[in-house]
Amino acid sequence: MNENSWLECIRGCGVRHAVDEVVYHCEQCGGLLDVVHDTEALLQHSAQEWKDLFDGRTLLRTGIYASGVWAKKEWVCPQIPDDTVVSFNEGNTPLVSARLLGRQIGIPDLWVKQCGNSHTGSFKDLGMTVLVSMVNAMIRRGKPIKAVACASTGDTSAALAAYAAAAGIPAIILLPRNKVSPEQLIQPLANGAKVLALDADFDGCMRVVQELAQDPSIYLANSMNSLRMEGQKTVGIEIVQQFGWQVPDWIILPAGNLGNVSALGKGLLLMFELGLIDRLPRIACAQAQNANPFYLAFKNGFSSYQPVVAKTSMASAIQIGAPVSYERAVKVMHRFEGVVEQVSEEELANMCALADRNGLYCCPQTGVALGVAQKLAAQHVIEANERVVVISTANGLKFSQMKTAYHAGGLKDIQAHYVNAPIEIEADVRAVLRCL
Ligand SMILES: *Cc1c(COP(=O)(O)O)cnc(C)c1O
Ligand SMILES: [Zn+2]
Repeated sequence: MNENSWLECIRGCGVRHAVDEVVYHCEQCGGLLDVVHDTEALLQHSAQEWKDLFDGRTLLRTGIYASGVWAKKEWVCPQIPDDTVVSFNEGNTPLVSARLLGRQIGIPDLWVKQCGNSHTGSFKDLGMTVLVSMVNAMIRRGKPIKAVACASTGDTSAALAAYAAAAGIPAIILLPRNKVSPEQLIQPLANGAKVLALDADFDGCMRVVQELAQDPSIYLANSMNSLRMEGQKTVGIEIVQQFGWQVPDWIILPAGNLGNVSALGKGLLLMFELGLIDRLPRIACAQAQNANPFYLAFKNGFSSYQPVVAKTSMASAIQIGAPVSYERAVKVMHRFEGVVEQVSEEELANMCALADRNGLYCCPQTGVALGVAQKLAAQHVIEANERVVVISTANGLKFSQMKTAYHAGGLKDIQAHYVNAPIEIEADVRAVLRCL
């Protein structure tokens, strides 16, 4: 492997490892590792050259550059051989205007980045293509890796199972029992992964999988593994590119384990360093009140941080009490004048339904982000003339049970404002007309 990028401790100890080494922590301080790119080498190309290169690749329909992630290969994982890439053409997801909804929530220039329009239905595909491709390359070079493993709130496991299956690599998945949606449970089962439903919450599964991965033949696929960040960081780059290389004022996203916000910041900072953009957007993290350790830390200026025991939330993909990427995310918040806001279960459920009424099909996590957008606009943290992008992290089709319960008026302790139930009548046109 060449030296275009390497792993380095996020706390600046200076210890380096090759990107294909099976190592997740700094041996000096225990901190997480990040992929660092040789920016001097990347600066050999002008900003305009990079923009032209990336814009040109958006026209391709086959080959690895048809993927929005691999279209940025030089910035993501330059050393991987093309023929070991495992891809489902992830990325290049739609960035859609949501004006009608935006006007109702005080943000006329609202956009939604539809990351759920992807092979396994969530943004986790962006990172998993990089991780599984790297494992594939490692196995081909004879590294003794027998399986990949992850703990998951449902979407990481769906992505890992699919990409691993496509590469012919066994996958082991640890899920918190009864805490992921039925759709998310069936995805890895269908893809043939070994699925273990633990009597624990996500944080409990995370502890067990880290112990499991002390066996070096089991490769850890959680977002403490920085290879996933490299793929996920393309989301911010893609948003800017889709606006014709213009930077929006705000990017808002639901946050749980804090890997995605860290990745978002990393991608935008790389663009900034390489001169493709001359300012940074502000970032807002959205949490469910029932699982809000990052919100609580923000409230005290990140001076102290306590993990919490996450309570049950409909936004199950962010039901996390001890986020692994806390340190990474705090750095991003400082750099991007970040804010964190939270919403209640009732707020997220009604926001989901309101967004759906305006044509979206929103997952509960995206409901949290939109609810936070509305709150920040009401507080004038976001001004009415600002351009705001909400990252929709998963496809609403993964959360049918929650939506069905909402429209049946069956969500406990929730005042549902937008219920729409079917009207059951006989097959007779007069009966139909009476209903209209
Ligand atoms: C994983 C996930 C998140 C949270 O991302 P983190 O990196 O854990 O902060 C949000 N929404 C959905 C749908 C997810 O699957
Ligand atoms: Zn260190």
